[in-house]
Amino acid sequence: MKYVLVSGGVVSGLGKGVTASSIGVILKACGHRVTSIKIDPYLNTDAGTMSPFEHGEVFVLDDGGEVDLDLGNYERFLDITLTRDNNLTTGKVYQSVIERERRGDYLGKTVQVVPHITDAIQDWIERVAHIAVDGRDGPPTVCVIELGGTVGDIESMPFIEALRQFQFRVGPGNFCCVHVSLVPVLGVVGEQKTKPTQHSVAVLRSLGLNPHLLACRSQDPLSPAVRDKLALFCQVTPRHVLNMCDVSNIWHVPIMLEAQGAHKSICDILQLGGHDGMDLTVWRTGLAEKWDALSAVVRIAMVGKYTGLSDAYLSVLKALQHACLSASRKLEVLWVEASHLEPTSEADKSTEHTEAWDKIRSAHGILVPGGFGIRGVEGMILAAKYAREKEVPYLGICLGMQVAVIEFARNVLGLQEAHSAEFDAATPTPAVVFMPEGSKTHKGGTMRLGARKTILQTMDCITARLYQADEYVDERHRHRYEVNPNMVSDLEDRGLRFVGKDESGQRMEIVELKGHPYFVAGQFHPEFKSRPGKPSPLFLGLVLASSGHLDRYLSGSPVKVKHQDDASQLSNGH
Ligand code: GLN
Repeated sequence: MKYVLVSGGVVSGLGKGVTASSIGVILKACGHRVTSIKIDPYLNTDAGTMSPFEHGEVFVLDDGGEVDLDLGNYERFLDITLTRDNNLTTGKVYQSVIERERRGDYLGKTVQVVPHITDAIQDWIERVAHIAVDGRDGPPTVCVIELGGTVGDIESMPFIEALRQFQFRVGPGNFCCVHVSLVPVLGVVGEQKTKPTQHSVAVLRSLGLNPHLLACRSQDPLSPAVRDKLALFCQVTPRHVLNMCDVSNIWHVPIMLEAQGAHKSICDILQLGGHDGMDLTVWRTGLAEKWDALSAVVRIAMVGKYTGLSDAYLSVLKALQHACLSASRKLEVLWVEASHLEPTSEADKSTEHTEAWDKIRSAHGILVPGGFGIRGVEGMILAAKYAREKEVPYLGICLGMQVAVIEFARNVLGLQEAHSAEFDAATPTPAVVFMPEGSKTHKGGTMRLGARKTILQTMDCITARLYQADEYVDERHRHRYEVNPNMVSDLEDRGLRFVGKDESGQRMEIVELKGHPYFVAGQFHPEFKSRPGKPSPLFLGLVLASSGHLDRYLSGSPVKVKHQDDASQLSNGH
């Protein structure tokens, strides 16, 4: 097993995750089987209890693991399926060591950070690195380990020490250390500054890890003189100073690494072959360059809760991008703060309110993503009502399905007080109720989580045709509440069809509105399994319907997209 450690210095938010995923991509393109481990040095056991508005979205895995959003990057870039153990946190390591201490495993010994925690970290990495994540037999060849945080943080010290020891455990030729840092430009002079990188490399080296390669983020390409200076002061050869300057989309990053021979350098350090036959053509023409060339616009209104951090909906955004790549549409997302849609008072005519509704009216399609908490829910209900009445394509995800059902119960069945028990426990007409699969009293890991089968109830529905499935679909879940089974027949009588249910037939999984061009919602989160080149069917349906191409796609005739240089064609079944 070969290991690539990706650490970060200077500041957080440098795109370490994208760098590490891209290193995985170039190694995969050399023919190697790649897996990854993300280390998060926080004390939370997992990301499940962390606010997406502070930390970005909580990504959900097949096995129900609630993990850091970087695992989503790895799954999408490498087309792999990770496990909850691929996300290692301080909380998990301490929990495992304390459990062993209580069991008596260390009887008589003083349990310490070194060696007990550091050994547990190394054992964990070695064990998880050997798990196959690409559906094939046998262990992967390379494991990319991303160390979260910035070197020098108190929190990451036990992990750095563990990794320092680990390089000797696995031996030379099996361990490659890449340090991601920032080369800023200061003031009027416009000079690229190397000192922050020098300092962070010095810190890393003082802790016993010597980077083989530097990955320097910068706005513009590094000048040769700056590259040489970095090499000289950081003790790496100039060829190993990689530059990751700003690019138009993230799919350019692996291509940028390839252009600098990063695949060859890493394969040499790891004593791996394969780099001569490396091929990123599909990546280049099918993703990076294709995305830049798209011109026919599709405008999707995303109605959610915002605090200026779009990472809170990262996978939804990625799934929209994948769908747009396949449908040859240029994506324009109109971010709509759901609460601004609500007619609160006199402020009804406030600029925010007017602007929010202008966005809804100018959108080709509306998407209401998942969420928790009551803020904005009435606005989401209004957005669903608008989409239903005006026949605008609508995709509801999890909470987005629940609000669509509440809206229908209120305005079509006439149950004015219909609500979700999550938001109004006393409602006489609960359209959405608590359906226990987990616990109501504990918050961590207690929801209906991970992959579950949804049985298609009919083949005569948009969902079955989009998925090209004839029995079931398998998607990831993360919720506590569901459509009230007692209300289903009334809703169905008026045209809201529950075309997907769980294996017991009690949990409503997919809803479609009869006679509407595209009003589809799922209790699950299809965004988590979307991949570039393999878009999530429900997102593809939204983008195609929003561009007026869904019928042709579903009828199996190729969809020719105008304004496209490459005359892309997309057809169901091809
Ligand atoms: N809050 C809702 C529930 O728990 C929806 C969750 C979600 O959208 N992920 O059921």
